[in-house]
Amino acid sequence: MTINHSQEAFTKAQELIPGGVNSPVRAFKSVGGIPRFIASGEGAYLIDIDDNRYVDYVQSWGPLIFGHRDESIENAVIEAVKHGLSFGAPTEAESDLAELIISIYDSIEKIRFVSSGTEAVMSAIRLARGFTLRDDIVKFTGCYHGHSDALLVQAGSGAATFGTPSSPGVPADFTKHTLLADYNNIESVRQCFVDSPGIACVIIEPIAGNMGLVPADKDFLAQLRALCDEYGALLIFDEVMSGFRACLHGAESITGTKPDLVTLGKVIGGGMPVGAFGGRRDIMAHLSPEGGVYQAGTLSGNPVAMAAGLASIRKIKQNSRLYGILETRAKRLMQGFNDAAIKHNIGLQTDVRGSMFGFFFSDEPVHNFADALKSDTTRFARFHAAMLDGGFYFACSQFETGFICTAITDTMIEDTITAAENIFAELKE
Ligand SMILES: *Cc1c(COP(=O)(O)O)cnc(C)c1O
Repeated sequence: MTINHSQEAFTKAQELIPGGVNSPVRAFKSVGGIPRFIASGEGAYLIDIDDNRYVDYVQSWGPLIFGHRDESIENAVIEAVKHGLSFGAPTEAESDLAELIISIYDSIEKIRFVSSGTEAVMSAIRLARGFTLRDDIVKFTGCYHGHSDALLVQAGSGAATFGTPSSPGVPADFTKHTLLADYNNIESVRQCFVDSPGIACVIIEPIAGNMGLVPADKDFLAQLRALCDEYGALLIFDEVMSGFRACLHGAESITGTKPDLVTLGKVIGGGMPVGAFGGRRDIMAHLSPEGGVYQAGTLSGNPVAMAAGLASIRKIKQNSRLYGILETRAKRLMQGFNDAAIKHNIGLQTDVRGSMFGFFFSDEPVHNFADALKSDTTRFARFHAAMLDGGFYFACSQFETGFICTAITDTMIEDTITAAENIFAELKE
């Protein structure tokens, strides 16, 4: 496989754009090597500018559940473009997509659209604070909720539950209201409620996908709900990644725990920049212009983005067997990886939720971020490079989730397993 053109493009991009990329993970820093510059996508495949083809298990980090260039989404976008790119005035498409999502998510009674997951979460948290008139929030180590200041936190010193900034440029004053708890550990959440004078909300990825795939235990979520109710805090499910990826009706439908607010993104834009947050009617009523909590966006509810989202969610809703089919394929892939790992004596932990799959090069089960960090990232980097060279495009970090799209066939899955097994045989050495 030659990658000369990508190499040149990356060198040029690094002169012009910090790190050569517009979102850090794309630079391949944690695995090394040259990021592939993409010319086009086609169903299950990514095609780079050297004309190499890869079976794509990233799918734009989640959004493309029907793969690249899905005909109905593409046609809907082209049709929308002919009417204008943006109006800054309401369109019926916004209500259509709102109605559709509300009909699918039990916990969403009203919804607002924004342009990214970051914006959705940032706005949902502001709303939770405005509704409860409290300042503190709780997040979990290893969960990612976008890059707004208050959410770029890491554990402070000692046993303190209050976070400190995880990035230069974030004032400590902006993160002092963010408390950190351990995923799947209810005692750590209880401690936050003890330490804080008033918690507005607890935000969680109910199916975490940003520390690798680490689903929350059912019991843990039920206890979280009970704690929030006891203290009058709101529970926010960040389903920007898992929404319409793990199942149709949201994490609440597979865990039995109902959130007060839900954030969405990725799949609901069908590949266009869309985020959303929604939930209880009485909470959403606090949002401007109905209520006092300010939130706005010049391109929010953009007609082209709404068209892509509508085509995508309509197609999902019409296809009742979709998640079963995708989950069967994801499970077969992970089963194949597991069998190969056992055969070659490589420690591997795998999990699947609908079209999401994850694997850690670790001997121990992964329930939280500390567990995830025990993975052998050097081994992952070697695996990633070799798979890429063989034409299989996996996320370029041990701590990301993989995605199956409808265009990925059983044959592709078997080919991927065979390639992985050959690589596992060499990884031992
Ligand atoms: C991707 C993601 C975000 C951020 O969305 P952007 O569109 O990248 O801003 C927030 N939360 C979760 C769970 C995500 O996976």
